[in-house]
Amino acid sequence: MSDSISVQTSTADTYELHFGYDLSAELEHFVQNFGSGKAFLMVDAFVLKHHRTHFEKALKSHFKELHVFEVPRGEQAKNIEVYKQAVDFVLNEGVERGTPLIAIGGGVTGDLSGFVAATVLRGIPLIHIPTTLLAMVDSSIGGKTGINHITGKNLIGSFYQPAAVFADVKYLETLPEKEWVNGLSEVLKYGMIHSPEILEKVKTLIEQNTFVDGKSWLPLIQQSATIKVEIVAEDVLEAGKRAFLNFGHTFAHVIEKAGNYTTYSHGEAVYAGMIAAVHASNSLGANIDLSNLLQFKPLYKLTLDQVDSSAKELVHLMKSDKKVKDEQIQLILLKQISSPYVYKVSETDFVERTWEHTLNIFK
Ligand code: NAD
Ligand code: ZN
Repeated sequence: MSDSISVQTSTADTYELHFGYDLSAELEHFVQNFGSGKAFLMVDAFVLKHHRTHFEKALKSHFKELHVFEVPRGEQAKNIEVYKQAVDFVLNEGVERGTPLIAIGGGVTGDLSGFVAATVLRGIPLIHIPTTLLAMVDSSIGGKTGINHITGKNLIGSFYQPAAVFADVKYLETLPEKEWVNGLSEVLKYGMIHSPEILEKVKTLIEQNTFVDGKSWLPLIQQSATIKVEIVAEDVLEAGKRAFLNFGHTFAHVIEKAGNYTTYSHGEAVYAGMIAAVHASNSLGANIDLSNLLQFKPLYKLTLDQVDSSAKELVHLMKSDKKVKDEQIQLILLKQISSPYVYKVSETDFVERTWEHTLNIFK
């Protein structure tokens, strides 16, 4: 069971995104494009422990040597020390221009490995095998790679497109519910900014209690990924439309920051951030039913009581974000569901009221 779509990048290259349950045969076929000497694998520690035989099956028949670098679990792996260790590893083992680097894991592994692939020898072929819902519908697509800096998230990095992506939902069988919910926020985001029927589909899957069963999520994963592909294709270097993918995210980044990047997962923060964005949209005249999102609130078990800042302080944090230009906060709001627009605010009372409302919902 598999399917694929093509992704066009700014350099007129295209790459394939494959979706399915057990993509061993497709992967085995694709790696024939590379020399059979060696491949580098950067693998999330959990995935390495639980899925090693699965990915080795597809790779061992072609490559004589597989050099495996274990990526520690968690966001802290996206740091310059681990990056250095990975670069040392790849260079010491004798990488060549055509040697592929295969990233197998969630967004952390993908972002870190992508940056290694982008920078070693000014670029070696990168293959993404995303293993979390978030990575399948979001981080493995679009070519953003990078690591964090002590002054902020994702501040060191580059745009670097993969040679192919294999979204194999077999990996999702071991994904804990907390991580499903984390990735779900991005899926809901596509529902809000692009295809409202996604919200209905999620509702049905949740009612069937189907976390764990990656197969039943496959169509929705493919639909979500396709939306990201389409938006990115129109705006590879993030000058315009791609900003719509940040729906909920300006608020979310502040929540993540206020929780020191440990209290709240990205997905939790995005969920609350989307509620804030809908509220803000409605205060500017839209008429969007908040229950589109609130119906999923029980899944999140989220309170914002660890956000130890007042609404005013949160606005201040928003303004101090490194990506803020000219003190203007950029929000992605909705005229109605599936109709996003960019809104730049300097009048902060309105944002402050939005925070008050959101903190209240998540008391
Ligand atoms: P993650 O990579 O940390 O994975 C979450 C957890 O799931 C980890 O503990 C990991 O060990 C575990 N895991 C991974 N695959 C598993 C599996 N199949 N079964 C069981 N456990 C598994 O986090 P994530 O949510 O996938 O990604 C978050 C990262 O992605 C952030 O660093 C974020 O900045 C980045 N991101 C990047 C982009 C982009 O465009 N490049 C977009 C969105 C997010
Ligand atoms: Zn996100």
